[in-house]
Amino acid sequence: MRVLVAGGAGYIGSVVTAALLQGGHEVTVLDDLSTGHADAVASGARFVQASLHDSGPVLAEVRPEAVLHFAAKSLVGASQQTPEEYWHVNVGGSLALLEAMRAADCRRIVFSSTAATYGEPEQVPIREDAPTRPTNTYGATKLAVDAMLTSYAVAHDFAAVSLRYFNVAGAAYGLGERHTTETHLIPIALQVAAGKREHLTVYGEDYPTPDGTCIRDYIHVEDLSDAHLLALPAPAAGEHRIYNLGNGTGFSVQEVVDAVRQVTGHPIPVEVGPRRAGDPAQLVASSDRIRGDLGWAPKHTDLAGIVGDAWSLIS
Ligand code: UDP
Repeated sequence: MRVLVAGGAGYIGSVVTAALLQGGHEVTVLDDLSTGHADAVASGARFVQASLHDSGPVLAEVRPEAVLHFAAKSLVGASQQTPEEYWHVNVGGSLALLEAMRAADCRRIVFSSTAATYGEPEQVPIREDAPTRPTNTYGATKLAVDAMLTSYAVAHDFAAVSLRYFNVAGAAYGLGERHTTETHLIPIALQVAAGKREHLTVYGEDYPTPDGTCIRDYIHVEDLSDAHLLALPAPAAGEHRIYNLGNGTGFSVQEVVDAVRQVTGHPIPVEVGPRRAGDPAQLVASSDRIRGDLGWAPKHTDLAGIVGDAWSLIS
């Protein structure tokens, strides 16, 4: 298939680009390099530096059969401080991209949505029919794009899939997380192991969980990438599917720290700090829907294995 990957210079987009190329697809990457890295774009892909707002000419020229859309601002804290940027890029940019697709007669899309669309869950594991009540602007913008895709499927015959990622981690194809502003637990803990930080701050140990620290569902980026390739041809015209993507097992912050100690052999000094605003105690996915519909199954469910793959790029 001839595909356009928006945000293909970022962590997840670059891994999926490599997987698409390996699967024989013809790939053009569109990325404004606001957070991505040009050297993360696999050499077999064509690279165009442009923002979502300027995607029209690229779509018109490439005329892709499908778009995979990873391009977004994704820092929860920043989304609370400068919401206008998040609405402009994530929602305005996505609208511009969908309109560019429509003009180029491309109506198939896989979109990177997020567990943050659900907010504080009433029940775990979280299913796709759970209420969507995001607790931050980042989650609200992703939910708005999910709604946009439903309307475009109904009104304009789009074939769309939203993949709601839980906590993505690990590395594949020699590509891992390289954020200038790093806020995620596993890469921060690995920075401590690599001597780039003195310690890790645990954001709260008074949560209603067995060890008092927050529980998250860590999914290997390669398993996530597999899901994109399965999702790409799945929906029919006029259909918008939503799938959660996680391993279905929760690990606490303390368990992640223990895994990082085990993998790296570093003591990882820890300080306990206050809770981070907007952090739910537990986020664990039910991925039954994508397992049932598309036969997706994660291959990397072992936390130490996920951490080890990320560490192998750094050490
Ligand atoms: N966390 C932490 N210290 C850090 C970074 C994260 O204790 O330096 C905790 C955070 O409060 C959450 C979990 O680790 O409970 C995962 O956070 P992350 O930012 O990696 O992902 P999120 O779940 O927010 O998408």
